[in-house]
Amino acid sequence: MLAYVVAVQVIAYAVLLATAVTTPVSTRSWTWLGVLVVASVIHLEAAQGIERVRELAAEGTPYTHLQSVWFFAGVLLLPVPLQAVLIGASFAHEWLRVFRRRAVPHRKVFSACTVLLATAGATLALAAFYPGVDPGQPLVTALDGPRGVVALVLAGLIYRLVNYALVVGAIIATNPDEPAHRALGPASDQLLIAAAVGLGYAVTVVMVHQPWTAPLLLVTVLALHLGLLLPQFRAAARTDGKTGLVSAQWWHDQAAAELERARRLGDPVGVLMLDLDRFKRINDRFGHLAGDEVLRAVAEAVRREVRGTDLVGRWGGEEFAVLLPGVDATGATRTAERIRAAVSVLHVTARDHTGQDVVITGLSLSVGAGAFPTTATTVTDLLLAVDAALYEAKDHGRDQVRVAGAGTA
Ligand code: GH3
Ligand code: MG
Ligand code: MG
Repeated sequence: MLAYVVAVQVIAYAVLLATAVTTPVSTRSWTWLGVLVVASVIHLEAAQGIERVRELAAEGTPYTHLQSVWFFAGVLLLPVPLQAVLIGASFAHEWLRVFRRRAVPHRKVFSACTVLLATAGATLALAAFYPGVDPGQPLVTALDGPRGVVALVLAGLIYRLVNYALVVGAIIATNPDEPAHRALGPASDQLLIAAAVGLGYAVTVVMVHQPWTAPLLLVTVLALHLGLLLPQFRAAARTDGKTGLVSAQWWHDQAAAELERARRLGDPVGVLMLDLDRFKRINDRFGHLAGDEVLRAVAEAVRREVRGTDLVGRWGGEEFAVLLPGVDATGATRTAERIRAAVSVLHVTARDHTGQDVVITGLSLSVGAGAFPTTATTVTDLLLAVDAALYEAKDHGRDQVRVAGAGTA
């Protein structure tokens, strides 16, 4: 894994170095670079709220960069070394405004390198179609007739495939236990990138022929970005920002709907309520940021132990609720034990309040379990019963699962 990441970075730097010493850079290129950097900064500033949510939701899948509009415009307008400056500036800005403290820096450096290899690959493909073009001239001005269309489509494909393959490879290598299809990300992301590449081309044509109307395209890009992703933005309302789990309100609404369905079909529905044991001590000892890391790690562990159709919500501070459609009390208890076991072996790396790296282990959970219709027949009664079972688990020494209404030892 490390070898792979290092190799990608070394190749990216080698490409940068090789092109930096061989490609002449004109003042016009610097101007275009400036315009593209400014456009990318404005774009991200307008969309950063959405991007925070998208990045959280994309954990473990490739995060689709809509900055591709400007990166692909860079392919058509700029020599490779200036493409590197554009990518570097955009990632640095994104790091400061969106991802600081939320992502590991070396991952972002790796992403930036994959983008550079993608733009360099696309540039190479275009240049192969037009070998006579002076390397200082923007490739977009060389595009002509049907050959231009083929060259452009090929460059777009190479841009996408190089970046995508490198990122998916890294994700599969880091999470070998996750199903590989998850590493591919949603298919609709391919359409988003196709749109970004097309818009990137439009941007360059306008910049070369009618530069004064270019700001209109920036507005177009922003409107599309915000408009297309607004549904996802609304999803933010049902998502807990810290853990990426669903919010308590959304969980409750879904649970009510699920019980209705189960009533019609005569199916059981399992419910778990989980509470981290002695969580306050972790905050007191390592600080709240480390505490947040623990919450994220536990949320992820819970999600890993349940099926994709189960619904995990953040109920409160360090409390989680799990809805298990089709599962009876016995099955719910089994799932709870599995979650408890998974959490007990977690190693959470975090920074404590002094900035020191720490590894937090020895986590435990108390769990109350129950099911519709044996435990109760409404969401409220079910929650009350499961919550009581949770407190029973706490009273009996924590780190255990109790079944609602099962009587106590
Ligand atoms: P137990 O449940 O085993 O009885 O002990 P506890 O210490 O976990 O329980 P308690 O409910 O007393 O404390 C919960 C703590 O969770 C209090 C609060 O500091 C912490 N907490 C709640 N929400 C967050 C959060 O979002 N981030 C962090 N870091 N801590 C949180
Ligand atoms: Mg609590
Ligand atoms: Mg607790």
